[in-house]
Amino acid sequence: MITAQIQTAAYLFAGILFILSLGGLSSQESAKRGVFYGIVGMAIAILSTVLGGDVHGHIYIIAAIAIASVIGILVARKVEMTSMPQLVAILHSFVGLAAVLVGFGSYLDPHTQELVGTAHTIHLVEIFIGVFIGAITFTGSIIAWGKLQGKIMSKPLVYPGRHAVNIILVLISIVLGVLFTQAHGVDGMLYLYIMTAIAAFIGVMLVMAIGGADMPVVVSMLNSYSGWAAAAAGFMLGNDLLIITGALVGSSGAILSIIMCEAMNRSFLSVIFGGFGATPISSGGDQEIEGEVTSTNHAEVAELLKEAKHVLIVPGYGMAVAKAQYPIHDLVDILQKDGKKVTFGIHPVAGRLPGHMNVLLAEANVSYDIVLEMEEANDEMDETNVVLVIGANDIVNPGALTDTSSPIYGMPVIKVWEADKVIVMKRSMATGYAGVQNPLFFKDNTDMLYGDAKDSVDKILAELR
Ligand code: NDP
Repeated sequence: MITAQIQTAAYLFAGILFILSLGGLSSQESAKRGVFYGIVGMAIAILSTVLGGDVHGHIYIIAAIAIASVIGILVARKVEMTSMPQLVAILHSFVGLAAVLVGFGSYLDPHTQELVGTAHTIHLVEIFIGVFIGAITFTGSIIAWGKLQGKIMSKPLVYPGRHAVNIILVLISIVLGVLFTQAHGVDGMLYLYIMTAIAAFIGVMLVMAIGGADMPVVVSMLNSYSGWAAAAAGFMLGNDLLIITGALVGSSGAILSIIMCEAMNRSFLSVIFGGFGATPISSGGDQEIEGEVTSTNHAEVAELLKEAKHVLIVPGYGMAVAKAQYPIHDLVDILQKDGKKVTFGIHPVAGRLPGHMNVLLAEANVSYDIVLEMEEANDEMDETNVVLVIGANDIVNPGALTDTSSPIYGMPVIKVWEADKVIVMKRSMATGYAGVQNPLFFKDNTDMLYGDAKDSVDKILAELR
């Protein structure tokens, strides 16, 4: 057992490690260090909490941690890189559920009943708000998981008057909150249950209302909500570290959401309120597409690459599916040895997770110096000879700039068509996540190279060798 003073010092130390962890994660070079700080901070946080004076039943806690760790390790080892976003979404739902359960437990805890006056009311308000945020996070994250997993349609589910319905539901929750704080003993449980059901419904409807192309923002927004749910649980339990950690996750998630909104040219408020104020959009792609689709083969692409001076590679979700990052690394090596300039252009919402492409390229040991952000890649486009679009679709769709009926209209894209030649590697003419046709495939300077991206890169490599 440790004293309260040691526990406070340990919490402070863990809090500092979490801040250093976030700082480390902000750049790829320091990301590993950031993760390490996070792991050490979390280990200190768990140990100092479990060994704290008020904690009893250690045997159950150890058993629960052991079982959960085994499940966590098994799931994390098994999960494919392409399923990471779903895993993150479902993990957010656990935080939400934990906040709800902590709220119920805290309300029924005899210590809560011992509190009197303002302290009692404040504690009840903490419980009510914590459960409200937790329930929204719980169901919202499950719907996000379903959308990312393809189990739920990615089209926004909008019905007339839904904003009015949401506002009425929030008002009813406020009334329930007032009744809850005035109830005697544990008589307010019914109000808590009803509010939980309402918040769970709001969570479902908020995420159902968000269209496929806006999902990146939802993932980071739910990340933020899960932080606030954890902070709320910290208030309920009187645990300062949980409050600090929750606030860190909540605010960094909110900042990430704003960055993602800027990347997609969306209004932050309209996305967090489930499309509030968003201009209604059709299922998209109504604009006539001119031109013909032409295809090429591996030998021709190899010849093009041999002649090129500057090659830009734009990876997308298909690179993750095909696991093409490893042969791409070899391709870059060969081209660089031949004296060519090779760069990568990374769109902020490429793939299915913020930073998805950066993680995959780092995994394949691609040097960070040649990985450019979207704006940098666009600035160099007129001096680029060949662009290899590898399993990307929405992020290189010119319709996002010109077709007002498109669900991705307004999203900045990598303007690959401004280079001399574009090769698009994908298996078919199928659409990407947003479900819209891509006029890029019909442009004169674009050739399609059909097939699995890894297979195609392997064959080009064979030609080059
Ligand atoms: P897209 O989903 O637009 O396109 C991916 C393309 O990859 C598909 O058209 C598919 O075409 C192709 N593909 C799939 N498997 C393979 C394979 N084995 N080999 C070769 N090609 C393959 O991905 P982008 O990265 O271009 O854009 C990301 C989209 O996802 C955006 O709409 C974004 O809003 C959304 N999104 C992003 C999130 C994020 O945080 N980054 C989160 C959630 C959604 P084909 O079937 O013909 O091969």
